[in-house]
Amino acid sequence: MATDCIFCKIIKGEAPANFVYNDEDMVVFHNIKPSAPVHVLIVPVEHIESVNALEAQHSAIISKMMLMAKEIAGILGIRDSGYKLVINVERGGGQVIFHLHLHLIGGWGR
Ligand SMILES: [Zn+2]
Repeated sequence: MATDCIFCKIIKGEAPANFVYNDEDMVVFHNIKPSAPVHVLIVPVEHIESVNALEAQHSAIISKMMLMAKEIAGILGIRDSGYKLVINVERGGGQVIFHLHLHLIGGWGR
């Protein structure tokens, strides 16, 4: 938990988001600045700053993020048409929010 982190605030219900899914260790919500017809963020509840902060203890959550991507793609109707999964790492990699998240992007040409 980082008090100045917008994703932690969303997870705690202190900031608004359009949720697709949430459980005890993962939330999924629509990106407020979508770069595609479908653009959601898959976010672990635990505040992990980036891929560079991952440790072996996080292997289960990373696995769950990837499996979640497939499930959410199905819920959003883009599983068969296809999608991109993107993780930006650190500023040079385009990361803006320093709370680990997986972008699920698609919905073109449906
Ligand atoms: Zn956070």
